[in-house]
Amino acid sequence: QRQRAYNFNAGPAALPLEVLERAQSEFVEFAGTGMSIMEMSHRGGVYEGVHNEAKSLMKELLNIPAGYDVLFMQGGASTQFAMIPLNLLAPGKVGAYVNTGSWATKAIQEAQLVGEIQVVASSEADKFMSIPSLSDLQLPEQAAYLHLTSNETIEGTQFHAYPDTGNVPLIVDMSSDILCRPIDVSQFGMIYAGAQKNLGPSGVTVVIAKEELIATSPKTIPTMMRYSTAYKNNSLYNTPPSFSIYMVKLVLEWIKEQGGLSALQVANEYKAQLLYNAIDNSDGFYRGCAEQNSRSIMNVTFRLATEELEKAFAAQAEQAGFIGLKGHRSVGGLRASIYNAVPRSSCEALVQFMEDFRLKNG
Ligand code: PMP
Repeated sequence: QRQRAYNFNAGPAALPLEVLERAQSEFVEFAGTGMSIMEMSHRGGVYEGVHNEAKSLMKELLNIPAGYDVLFMQGGASTQFAMIPLNLLAPGKVGAYVNTGSWATKAIQEAQLVGEIQVVASSEADKFMSIPSLSDLQLPEQAAYLHLTSNETIEGTQFHAYPDTGNVPLIVDMSSDILCRPIDVSQFGMIYAGAQKNLGPSGVTVVIAKEELIATSPKTIPTMMRYSTAYKNNSLYNTPPSFSIYMVKLVLEWIKEQGGLSALQVANEYKAQLLYNAIDNSDGFYRGCAEQNSRSIMNVTFRLATEELEKAFAAQAEQAGFIGLKGHRSVGGLRASIYNAVPRSSCEALVQFMEDFRLKNG
């Protein structure tokens, strides 16, 4: 059997081998039904069991308090960029946004199409290489919510604490770091994430929200764009992405087997430290992009002295079985995405490769 790649893809990204093998074992014949999970009605009890189990595992792992619900949506996190203001930004209100980089900017641009927004903090002057301090954050009086991007997948920065926004709902795009560590869900009005990094395959977007924010939506927006449609119908108003949700369920079971989010946090911080140490102890051969305190434990971004050297690194790494290390085309450089399912052994192998490459080219 061919060895699995050292997969550092940014998303879609590595899934746990155990999850893939489990899916393989029940792919053709699901639970004695004579068919695959993707061949059966989403209105039947078998599928509904999977759907509800995914939802309750999410509640269990994140310790989601009463008064919140979990929705399974389509259209990716990018559709949430529009749905948030469509549903929550009433006329006369202001959407407050923190701009930390590429994905925050996309959320801002989309919201600008819908209503009035204000950027209340930004690290643009720092080329988005840091997380701005929010300690004396001033929210507009008419703020409907504060939106921020927990982890900037492209720049490799991450919030390590969230602001207290009082009565103003805090809405966070956690697409690239959901379930990487424990969080206190009661701090948030809404959390959303495309599945294709830490949760499963692409095709489903998870929304965790206070019920008061999603129970009623403006009647002026199309049915499928209303949170209330998903909320009132247990995310079964129309056909859900059933196979993706099934895969999310398997990933959540895997997380539980690993010991839950505290165990994952320890593992993730260890992996990130391996890579950041390799960068910091390279006598300047490798340079970390993000400012120290803003470094992401999910996406490690770094540069070499020249673009030629970066190209050579990416090419030789690929030869050696390390996949996905080229930085995003918009920023260049190199990036190792080390989501939950990337094993420590992949990071150890990459550190070894980085040391060998430095000795040959330093
Ligand atoms: N937000 C963040 C932080 C992301 O990393 C991504 C995808 N890489 C998105 C939003 C967009 O997600 P989707 O492709 O699911 O629309």
